[in-house]
Amino acid sequence: MTTTRENEIEQENMKREFYHMIINGEKVKGSTGETIKSYNPATGELVAEIAKATKDDAEKAVEAARAAFDTGKWKKFPVGRRSNVLNKIAAIMRSRFNELVELEVLDTGKSLHAAQGQVTQAIEDFEFYAGAIVGHRGAVNNVPGQFHNYTEKEPVGVCAQIIPWNYPLMMAAWKVAPAIAVGCSVVLKPASLTPITAIILGEICLEAGVPPGVVNVVTGSGSEIGNYLVEHHNVDKVAFTGSTPVGKDIMASASQSLKRITLELGGKSPSIVFEDADITSAVDGSLFGIFYNSGQSCEARSRLYVHESIYDEFMDLFVEKAKKLKLGDPFNKGTHVGAIIDQNQLESIDNYVQSAQKEGANVLVGGNIAKPEGHENGFWYEPTIIANVNHDMEIVKEEVFGPVVVVMKFKDEKEAIQLANDTDFGLGSAIWSKDGARATRVANQIQAGIVMINCPFSAFPGTPFGGYKQSGFGRELCIETLDLYSETKSILSYYGSRPLNPFGL
Ligand code: NAD
Repeated sequence: MTTTRENEIEQENMKREFYHMIINGEKVKGSTGETIKSYNPATGELVAEIAKATKDDAEKAVEAARAAFDTGKWKKFPVGRRSNVLNKIAAIMRSRFNELVELEVLDTGKSLHAAQGQVTQAIEDFEFYAGAIVGHRGAVNNVPGQFHNYTEKEPVGVCAQIIPWNYPLMMAAWKVAPAIAVGCSVVLKPASLTPITAIILGEICLEAGVPPGVVNVVTGSGSEIGNYLVEHHNVDKVAFTGSTPVGKDIMASASQSLKRITLELGGKSPSIVFEDADITSAVDGSLFGIFYNSGQSCEARSRLYVHESIYDEFMDLFVEKAKKLKLGDPFNKGTHVGAIIDQNQLESIDNYVQSAQKEGANVLVGGNIAKPEGHENGFWYEPTIIANVNHDMEIVKEEVFGPVVVVMKFKDEKEAIQLANDTDFGLGSAIWSKDGARATRVANQIQAGIVMINCPFSAFPGTPFGGYKQSGFGRELCIETLDLYSETKSILSYYGSRPLNPFGL
């Protein structure tokens, strides 16, 4: 007789699958047969095995993308036809919504609510670019009479797209949708920790009518496969989302062949709460700003500056509500904060918090590795609020990438702006104030690519997303992204009745 636990394990085993890479329209195993194992960070259980790419596999993927771009028909399709295919990709994703959400939760340990929002956004990204590409075109420019000049937008070519583990499907959509809308071919490399939904997206692209070789998905190590793609002479553009140190290496490698690059990197985003803010909204928005996705967001508002006159009132409510945040089964609709991606990340977060305490910081809430009931083998960290910090501390300067926020007081607008800008990063920022003139004045002085005024959300399809300073460059999720996957060709003609003889010979 089997026990309930054995039945559970059997059911779990049935869920396990093997995921192939996608190269030239085929599902392929890695050339050595080696695999990557994907574990559920919420439980520590195996989710699936995934083909592991070697450099040979990456080479085949680049060759396929090159051939599809140079000799294939995708970039020659009328724009309306490419647009239709993008809409079809979105429609298939929508029809597989629950499956994509479930896999995203299993692969990342994020809460159901977070995964649902992110899968929805990934779908809407394809819909957005299906529309945007129709209006993406060159221009006719003013030139002296009898001359004529127009520009054409041409796809840049083969794009290596390298993405992180924190929003696996959404990051894949941010990359693939604009690139193929323009007519490029791509080799997408998801993070080894979370490759599943990127692979499924590759399959969906084929099913929707994207020709073989246009979207290739290779799964393997960043330092080996990612770097191989970045250095490859047949790759024309690298679009990277990930940490700032890896972004710097990529920029250095890509410079050897002057590849086009887009870098979406780390952040340490400030949130400023002025004395005239709606305190409840500011508290709720600030909780979401740091604890959404367990703080594993590049634009997590991890530095909170509160005006000294409302500091106590704000903090009482902020701490009270933070204590109510629920960790636990990510599939439970009541769970607010999901798991941490793996043991390394968990230890890194804990080390930051421990070091801060040694330097004199006060942990007001959290500060510990958590063990939610039934999820003791997973990776969890308590939502953590830290006060009594200063700008010399690592916890204030560096990206923790976990559910940890530092809080400080400020006395006036000038000081708030100075503190907010005192960072190497410049991705997100938030301002909480009922005074529209002040909010706009401060927004204009913040050195960041994204400013949220009385708003907990950083982006929707159509709003530019990207950083200043060491948060990278290039904007994704918006119309101008299409230009980052295009070359502009200028065509200048002469239509005068007399031949031109500039040398007068
Ligand atoms: P990471 O830099 O370690 O890895 C990102 C990707 O790069 C992975 O696919 C990895 O395999 C690959 N990679 C690693 N080393 C490489 C190399 N030498 N050459 C080529 N590729 C390489 O980042 P991560 O830990 O996966 O993700 C977290 C980071 O991503 C955080 O810093 C976060 O802020 C950032 N992020 C930024 C944005 C944004 O839009 N700005 C969005 C999400 C995440």
